[in-house]
Amino acid sequence: MSDSPFVRPFCPADDDAYGWDDVPVHAYKPTGTHFRGITRQVLFGGDDAPSVEWRYFEVAPGGHSTFERHEHLHAVLILRGNGQVVVGDTVSPLATFDLVRVPPMTWHQFYATGDAPLGFLCLVAEERDRPQRPTEDEAAALTAHPVIGPHVRL
Ligand code: MN
Repeated sequence: MSDSPFVRPFCPADDDAYGWDDVPVHAYKPTGTHFRGITRQVLFGGDDAPSVEWRYFEVAPGGHSTFERHEHLHAVLILRGNGQVVVGDTVSPLATFDLVRVPPMTWHQFYATGDAPLGFLCLVAEERDRPQRPTEDEAAALTAHPVIGPHVRL
């Protein structure tokens, strides 16, 4: 289990099926004979599903994304590399196939901590607001925060 409510680590099951923490596996359809052997997992749905632009980002080793927040949400699937993410007042390690959701108006930043690029897919609403950067007062509070402070790059 992840310590963060925003990150669901990839955890393949013993039977080699793909899966993530807290993502239930459903039958593809409740009844019917016109399909066979399919399961369904909703990775991002409801309030976590913008409508949509699907982007692929790569962060070079040692690099990081902008520390920012905005009204639109992010739904992220890690595809490559290792890293960390700050979401709100949490810091979590990231590995291949982990899922990350960034809720509205929540500070966030991605870091590539390994020797390879950190590559990830990111879903966003096609129409979205501009990211906000911390004010001077906010920056002072964020960098002094006991958990995320040491990680924040402004
Ligand atoms: Mn963002």
